[in-house]
Parts: sequence; structure tokens; C-alpha cells
Amino acid sequence: MLLQVRELKVGYASGADVLRGVDLSVGASSVTGLIGANGAGKSTLLKTICGFLRRRGGAIAFDAADIGKLQPSQLAAHGIAYLMEGHSVFPGLTVEENLILGTWAFRKERARAKQAVERAFELSSVLRAKRKVKAGLLSGGQQRILEMERLTLNDPRLVILDEPSLGLSPKLVHEVFERIAQMKADGAGVLVVDQSARHVCAASDHLYVLRLGEICIEGPAASFSDRIDELVRNFI
Ligand code: ATP
Repeated sequence: MLLQVRELKVGYASGADVLRGVDLSVGASSVTGLIGANGAGKSTLLKTICGFLRRRGGAIAFDAADIGKLQPSQLAAHGIAYLMEGHSVFPGLTVEENLILGTWAFRKERARAKQAVERAFELSSVLRAKRKVKAGLLSGGQQRILEMERLTLNDPRLVILDEPSLGLSPKLVHEVFERIAQMKADGAGVLVVDQSARHVCAASDHLYVLRLGEICIEGPAASFSDRIDELVRNFI
């Protein structure tokens, strides 16, 4: 397994544990979906894996090495890419300039950086059409596509996505999940949290349901596909 989370306990300040012993794994070349009600602890789990919060207990391993004490920048250098909730484009720079900034890992290999940017334009017709447009003028959905492309420019091994389809039009939601499938085809492990349980289930190999800080259900996503409404009704 690429990522292994074991018995993870996390809380804020002096409050009670928000995550109360979470076990979760993500394999290479696969998509793992995580769904759950508002406040279940999904974002807390992703932030902890990505080094923005410290665990109170348990273990987080990437490639079998303990990463629980690393900083976000160190995790990025290890090949872990994280799309947070909200927007993080540079509004005054063009789409192309935003992508060029995203190739930091290849800063000493200009040809490779250029190739990565061109591939992003090949993969996304939305961005291709807006190449020279300032990112701040894109719609929220287009900005989200730009963020996702920028995230994958450095060939990450693990991609962690928090609500990538939030507030997007159906066409862009489709593009987001197509892009997730491409990340898997490129060999990355993907961990995705999204409000759309149906889309997450369809895109995932393995599905977890988080409830009140604990995994209450997990299994191959295909085993839930014909009862996803029931799952949402009972647990989300
Ligand atoms: P949502 O879908 O609404 O984003 P979530 O499943 O991602 O929900 P979290 O954002 O991880 O849930 O929140 C889990 C719990 O932790 C909630 O009870 C929330 O109020 C609490 N929490 C989140 N951030 C903080 C914080 N900075 N300080 C204190 N408590 C927090």
C-alpha cells in the first residue's frame, strides 16, 4: 500500500478527539473514495495526512515510512499533492503562468517543465481555450480545473483531493472525475472526498464511509454501487 493510516486520533486544541481511531489505506494506481456527513472529520483526516494537523495517536505511513512528523512542504517533495477546499490560483497571472509556477519540482529541467505544461493543455480543453486569460477571470469551476492540473504537473505519487467538484456545473464535474481517472491511469494513488457520493462511488476502487470520526463501512466501491442511496440515507 502507498498510504497506510492506522488507529489515527486527532483533535483540535483541548477538545475531544475528532478522529477516534481511523484505519484507511490507499494503493498506487487506484482511487479511494471517502464520504461522510458534514462534520464527520473528512477534512480533518486529509489535513492530518498532509501535515497541517498533528496526530494525537496512531500512525501514518507513506511507502512504509512514518510521515506523521513531516511538514507539508516535505510531504510535497515526497510526491504527495493536496487539493484543499477553496481556491488557490494566482488571480493576476494567466492560466499558463499559473501552470508554469506549478512546475517547481522541475525548475532545473526546463524542457520537462514545458512538457508538463503542454500536457496539461492537451488534457484540458477548458484550460486550452483560456491559456492567456488571467486566472482571476475564470469561473469557479474553471479555476478548480486549473488547480487540479497544477497539482499533477510534478507527477505526484499520491493525490489527495478535498471536495474537488464542490459548486461545479455538471460538465465540469464530469471533467474533474475524468481527470481523477487519468491520475489513476498515470499510476498515482488518489484519495478523494466529495459531497457527491454517487460520483465518488463510480470513480473509486475502494470506498470508506466516515461517521462521527470513525470508519463505519468500507469495501470495494463496486459492492456499493447499487445501494448508494441507501448508504447516503443511513450514514450521511
Ligand atoms: P464538511 O463536509 O462539513 O467539511 P468534514 O467531514 O470535513 O465536514 P471536518 O471539517 O473535518 O469535517 O470537521 C470535523 C469536526 O471538527 C467538526 O465537528 C468541526 O466543527 C471540528 N473542527 C474542524 N475544524 C476545526 C478547528 N479549526 N477548530 C476546532 N474544531 C474544528
